[in-house]
Amino acid sequence: MYIASISTGFIEVPGKISLNIFTQGCSVRCKQCQNEHLQPFLKKEDINTDKFEQILLDKELPTWICWLGGEPTDQPEEFIRFNKIIIKNNYKICLYTGKLFENIENLLENVDLVIDGPWEGKLVSDSNTNQRIFYRTNNGWKQYKWNELKGVIC
Ligand code: SF4
Repeated sequence: MYIASISTGFIEVPGKISLNIFTQGCSVRCKQCQNEHLQPFLKKEDINTDKFEQILLDKELPTWICWLGGEPTDQPEEFIRFNKIIIKNNYKICLYTGKLFENIENLLENVDLVIDGPWEGKLVSDSNTNQRIFYRTNNGWKQYKWNELKGVIC
C-alpha cells in the first residue's frame, strides 16, 4: 500500500491515542486541499502486509488506527486487506475520507468511525463544518456531532 507517513496522534479520535496512517494518492481534489503533496499516486513507501503487521506489533500506546490522506479508499483492495490485519491485532479503526459515506459504505466492513466529506476549511469539530461523523453501534451506523463522540466511543 502506498503510505506517505505514519505517526502517533492525540486529537483525531476524541479521547484516544491513535496510530495515524497518511496514505499517498488522492482522487478527490478538494478546492481547499492543504495536503496537495499527498495527491499524486507516487510510490513513496510501499508497505506490504508483513511490514505493516510488525509496525502494529511494535506500538504500545495507540488503541485506534486512523486512516488519513491522501485518500485511503483510493486503494480499496489494500484498505480492506490492511483493515483485516488491524482488527486481528485488536485495534479499532477510524477513517477520514474526502468522499461521502454513502459512496464508500462497501469498504467499511471493519471500520468503526468515519469522518466524511471534502475539506472546505472547517474542522470536523466546528459546528459549521460540512464533514459528518458516523460511528458504528450495536444497532448499526449512527451519526454524531464531534462533541458527542467522547462519551460514545470506546
Ligand atoms: S481528500 Fe484530502 S488530500 Fe484529497 S483533495 Fe481533499 S484535502 Fe486534499
